[in-house]
Amino acid sequence: MQTSLWQRFGVQPDLVALADKIETEILPIRQEIEAIVAHNQMRVVAALQNQHLSDWHLNGSTGYGYGDMGREALDAAYAELMQTEAALVRPHFVSGTHAIACAMMGNLQAGQEVLLASGRPYDTLEGVIGLRPAPLGNSLLDLGVNHRVIPLTDEGQIDLEAVAAAITPQTAMIHLQRSRGYSTRPPLTLEQIGQVVELAHNASPNIIVFIDNCYGEFVEREEPGAVGVDLMAGSLIKNPGGGLAISGGYIAGRELYVARAAERLTAPGLSNEMGATFGHLRPMLQGLFLAPDAVGAALQGAVFAAALFQELGFPVSPLPNELRHDIIQSIQFANAEQVIAFCQGIQAAAPVDAHVRPEPGDLPGYSDPVIMAAGTFVLGGSLELSADAPLRPPYNAYYQGGLTYAHARLGILMAASRVLNQQE
Ligand SMILES: *Cc1c(COP(=O)(O)O)cnc(C)c1O
Repeated sequence: MQTSLWQRFGVQPDLVALADKIETEILPIRQEIEAIVAHNQMRVVAALQNQHLSDWHLNGSTGYGYGDMGREALDAAYAELMQTEAALVRPHFVSGTHAIACAMMGNLQAGQEVLLASGRPYDTLEGVIGLRPAPLGNSLLDLGVNHRVIPLTDEGQIDLEAVAAAITPQTAMIHLQRSRGYSTRPPLTLEQIGQVVELAHNASPNIIVFIDNCYGEFVEREEPGAVGVDLMAGSLIKNPGGGLAISGGYIAGRELYVARAAERLTAPGLSNEMGATFGHLRPMLQGLFLAPDAVGAALQGAVFAAALFQELGFPVSPLPNELRHDIIQSIQFANAEQVIAFCQGIQAAAPVDAHVRPEPGDLPGYSDPVIMAAGTFVLGGSLELSADAPLRPPYNAYYQGGLTYAHARLGILMAASRVLNQQE
């Protein structure tokens, strides 16, 4: 039975044997991750209990959405979990980029400046900030908000001295990105984030330290609010949605900054007290409940992928036993054919659209062809098993997600099989 199922998925027997060997080696690492899951599961249950969550909170509202107590409970639970004063969790955010843009644009004015202290931001933020021309003239730069990129050091760390030196009376915000995104730099540690908060607030307590928290939620025992970050944002079709939220994003931070961001999402004067939640509250709340475990599964899948591909001779980052600060795993292949084989293997393991074969294609905003594997229940949901790769040297594939460890493991073994077949 066992053998024929592996055959059914095209995984060679020698790879199954190798997987068993690796499983023993990574067991202690998986146990450490499970300890973080247990901690965060308790934090989430406590946050929901503290809101006295009841069935009637889960139903959602219509129209203006006044007095939506489920929405208010969700906001308060997120504020507790992100360790901030307030939060705004809404299905109306169309993506993580939208939530980040509202947080930044709601809190910046003409004549002010934002320092990009972890180097160039995630691709989709370039148009928001004005690092790339915005066709309709709607970027922060077009609105009179300047920016300066402070490159990371050669080791991929924040250049604290350069950040301190760059602060001027116009500096209103320091932007940080916790995750590596789709680059080879390491993600930020909470310690590093705390150091930026300290130097910024020493220069002026009014400087808003903002962090793009995408892919970082529930990876560690604490969130950036614990080290004094003023404002953060993320996507619900990544970590905190737990695979169940079908859309949306969140902003968390100091009350005033979240309120300003809310007025950017809605309209001046409308604040955070409007916004019907339709049928979204149940999946958003239940997804939050499941999120620590799903993030743990994704992390353990990433550790398994790192260990397996390292054993097969491919450079991986992070290493299997490295401390993780986001859910992304990068694997470096020798050529484009291997990258394609890897992504096609991940797709072939999907519960949805497994019969579809991803091919490299051009995407707006990317200069090289990109291949994406995403056979997901939620379109673009990247806490589900997925992989992306731009087809250019050094031929890194970025792999993330897996709502269950067993599924992540299957996908990785199918991908490895195809890469090995490709090599022969
Ligand atoms: C996913 C992500 C975003 C936002 O992406 P969307 O596709 O707009 O949800 C921003 N920053 C980082 C680091 C991300 O990983």
